[in-house]
Amino acid sequence: MRNFLLFVENRDRFAVGLFRQFKIEETPSRVLIITPTLEQKRWVLEYIKARLYDYGKEILVKSWEEDKRQEEELTKDGLLSSFSFDNFVVGKSNQLVYKVCLEVSKNPGVYSPLFIYGGVGLGKTHLLHAVGNRAKSLGYKAIYRQAVEFSEEMIKSLKNGKIEDFRKTYSNVDILLLDDVQFLSGKDRTQVELFRVFEALQSKEKQIVFVSDRHPRDIRDVSERLLSRFVSGLILEIGLDAETKLSIIRHKLLLFGLPTDKRHIDYVMENTGYSVREIEGFIKTLKFTGIREEASTKSPCKEENLIRHVAKYFNLRPEDLKRETKERKVLRARQTAMYLCRTLLHMSYSEIARLFGKPDHTSALYSIKKVEEKKQQDRKFAYMLEMLEKSVKKHLGLN
Ligand code: ADP
Ligand code: MG
Repeated sequence: MRNFLLFVENRDRFAVGLFRQFKIEETPSRVLIITPTLEQKRWVLEYIKARLYDYGKEILVKSWEEDKRQEEELTKDGLLSSFSFDNFVVGKSNQLVYKVCLEVSKNPGVYSPLFIYGGVGLGKTHLLHAVGNRAKSLGYKAIYRQAVEFSEEMIKSLKNGKIEDFRKTYSNVDILLLDDVQFLSGKDRTQVELFRVFEALQSKEKQIVFVSDRHPRDIRDVSERLLSRFVSGLILEIGLDAETKLSIIRHKLLLFGLPTDKRHIDYVMENTGYSVREIEGFIKTLKFTGIREEASTKSPCKEENLIRHVAKYFNLRPEDLKRETKERKVLRARQTAMYLCRTLLHMSYSEIARLFGKPDHTSALYSIKKVEEKKQQDRKFAYMLEMLEKSVKKHLGLN
């Protein structure tokens, strides 16, 4: 193995005295030099460029401040104290996840790994922080990271010759909370490192919680061995049903100092989709604008209302459902709306086709058949449809 200081000495025996003042860490592929000041770092960089460029290993230079900052980054737990179990509203569609999370925060390791998935704005991130905060208050060491942050830290550590520190940091916690792991897709090196961390934590019976916007099997470009770890424990889906949505609206209205009478609740209920983030945003705006009567009383005929409601559920605009497109999400939303027009409003196929700007009844027939098939084959979809059906019924005053 080469020795950096010997190399410097051979080249310039005066400079070696200077280099001896710095902290030098050498591995087979790189040298890391840590200087006390930024000034010295600049000098070293210049010197390397001029005289040591042919050492044959990568040479990295950092000031002591920079080095410390990185260490601090690695040791900070990433937890946001504002997300707790106490300010999380529990209902039918999230109570199981809530219960398991609570259990995990008290007894890290009980359900490891735990994999939670579900759509956006449903409280996944909130729960991860809640687990971390509660665990921390009980004396456990927890660390929260977005998968992307985890990946960036890993790359930085690798570059700076600090990968061992990185591994140590993540392998020495009681709970690792990793958010949005769908973003690990295609990041091969990060997956390798995560796998190592995973094995280290599991062997010590520590707790890992993964969160994603989709089921692990639907995350693309994840190595087979990492995927097998994702699915090796408890996998839970988080959702939002109409009843829970109602409780959340009540809770958030109170939080923002707004009245919780029927008028306010209905107004929010009708104008928001199934995302707590959207509900929060809507209520924040409501605080400034107040209820805009024309918007809430603008109640066109039932079918238009149904379209509005379904569009909102899919995070689309009502007019999207009538436009020409091949976008899967829009097609699915339109087919679902057509299906509900049939089952809830008992419209004829021709009427439905006309409503969606289609030339004749066959398109409606086809779409509705598609939904019926999917309902049979896809349990998740069937559940979603059931929820949507209920909320449309309520919304339109049907029963
Ligand atoms: P996700 O990570 O699933 O996209 P978040 O956890 O970021 O969603 O939640 C979005 C916002 O909604 C956050 O401000 C969060 O506090 C709030 N929220 C979500 N679910 C609930 C709930 N059940 N009770 C109270 N607030 C919630
Ligand atoms: Mg999130």
